[in-house]
Amino acid sequence: MAGPRVSIVVPMFNEEAVLPLFIARLRPVADGLGTTYEVLAVDDGSSDGTAIGLQKARRDWPELRVVRLRANAGHQAAISAGLARARGDYVVTLDADLQDPPEVVAEMLDAALEKQVDVVYGVRGDRSTDSFFKRTTARLFYRSMGSLTDADAPRDAGDFRLMSRATVEAVNALPEYGRVLRFVVPALGFPSATVTYRRDERAAGSSKYPFAKMLRLSIDSMTAFSLAPLRFATFLGLAGGVGALLLLLYALYARAAGHVVAGWTSTVVIVAAVGAVQLLALGILGEYVGRLYAASQARPSYYVAYDSDDPA
Ligand code: UDP
Ligand code: MG
Repeated sequence: MAGPRVSIVVPMFNEEAVLPLFIARLRPVADGLGTTYEVLAVDDGSSDGTAIGLQKARRDWPELRVVRLRANAGHQAAISAGLARARGDYVVTLDADLQDPPEVVAEMLDAALEKQVDVVYGVRGDRSTDSFFKRTTARLFYRSMGSLTDADAPRDAGDFRLMSRATVEAVNALPEYGRVLRFVVPALGFPSATVTYRRDERAAGSSKYPFAKMLRLSIDSMTAFSLAPLRFATFLGLAGGVGALLLLLYALYARAAGHVVAGWTSTVVIVAAVGAVQLLALGILGEYVGRLYAASQARPSYYVAYDSDDPA
């Protein structure tokens, strides 16, 4: 049996508050695509009423498919689970909180067909609904990713995008640890287009992305796509070495000139500075070693508990 033409993959972590609103808004859009589709809700180990809400919704929406993960695996892993199981010729990933307007899915599909491209990125034209903190950290993040790495992700593109079957297969073939899709997908080099949209306010509930998760995503992106942090550590070491050499020369000179300097302050400052630099370099190294370690363990980044499409 042929798969549906379009799969809409939606990661959900404790989204019971927004679920009815989301379904009410997505369904007419999906029905209006004029083609076969599946909506693949990935329940990322929710502990609230998300699972029950999805089961209820399935009763009168046969195109709704539910994949439940056994534990909370995180946004990126939840999308990955959806990509691995989606069957559509085109796969769209979108958030459940209605920040990505479902209506844009139709635009993305049109763009893909008209322009004959494999990937259509949703680009946030207006981020005024995101908090000042989120906008500033995001700008900093994309700017440093842009200058430190070869990953040329479109600016202000998150995880709202359409991918062709070929793109999804290519993504699925990369079982990378801590895969950050917004940089992995552009790196694959498929022909692409963009659709600009206005990012709305979260419709209900609260953000499932605390600062710690944002930081994790940034570190994963950096270490996955760039050796720049490692080189920075090397540079710190070199600069420290040159500094030490100059200090040595000065110390010899001071001794020869008969200055006996009781340099308590300088000693403390040097010890503290060297210690900090060493710890920073060690931390950077640790991030890469950690990635290697996790990669060598090769554990799946999610476990599927249930797929409503699997035979019972
Ligand atoms: N999400 C998820 N697993 C997580 C965290 C988030 O599946 O561990 C989902 C969440 O339900 C939403 C999307 O990822 O559909 C984006 O999360 P959120 O809107 O909370 O992030 P923000 O927009 O605040 O960055
Ligand atoms: Mg959101």
